[in-house]
Amino acid sequence: MTDEAEIPEDHPRHDSLVTRHRIEDGVDRGITSRQGLIAQGRGEAFDYLLGEQTIPRADDAERAAAAALLLADHPVLSVNGNVAALVPEELVEIADAVDADLEVNLFNRTEERMAAIADHLREHGAEDVKGLAADAEIPGLSHERAKVDQDGIYEADVVLVPLEDGDRAEALGEMDKTEIVIDLNPLSRSAQVASIPIVDNAVRAVPGITSHARNLADADAATLREIVDEFDADAALAAAEDAIRGGELE
Ligand code: ATP
Repeated sequence: MTDEAEIPEDHPRHDSLVTRHRIEDGVDRGITSRQGLIAQGRGEAFDYLLGEQTIPRADDAERAAAAALLLADHPVLSVNGNVAALVPEELVEIADAVDADLEVNLFNRTEERMAAIADHLREHGAEDVKGLAADAEIPGLSHERAKVDQDGIYEADVVLVPLEDGDRAEALGEMDKTEIVIDLNPLSRSAQVASIPIVDNAVRAVPGITSHARNLADADAATLREIVDEFDADAALAAAEDAIRGGELE
């Protein structure tokens, strides 16, 4: 299959095929790593069991994430090769809705892939893309995996990390940031260490957060704070695990 448009709209697995195609295309274009294909496969399995839908607790998490991002002094959205291939336009939209920076942040960092992702985001409307300076390090990680921008993730108070590796999610959490993680596996370390874990497909979660952020645009700080404080990470993870283990497939 070479073109997304060739996937018939009425195909019962249309959305899943489009997603898969975008990742394949990302690999061909040097945006997504080969490991990204494996991550995609793992994600698909969890999403299948969730019924490929945003469960109510994930929607609550997306609302809490929107509130946390709106409250932040310096929010940063971390972008890897999978999300860049899947939702480039939606990343630019969410950055705009919550006034956050986009920072390319790769587990398997190569200068070529960093540049390809930054270009891809710019083609989709991003003006400023961080991550290329790499002038700071997340403490507790080996040199290559630790690299971030000083005026980006390093200094951010709230970071959104879709599909982060567990070690790095843990190290970021220890930097005293509010960490929002999007991960379809509620048992992954990334989801477990997040202040706000969102167990949902990034394809739905990123626009989901944006839509909540737009609805909350006029809310005062006290209302936003209450939404964040009321969110219960353990309950959200438990609800996702219940849905995956016990859900009825149609
Ligand atoms: P951890 O170290 O956090 O336990 P891991 O290193 O085992 O996790 P990877 O193999 O790197 O995890 O896989 C990345 C994670 O991203 C998987 O948990 C997978 O479910 C999730 N994932 C893949 N695609 C998506 C997607 N589109 N949306 C949300 N999550 C996804």
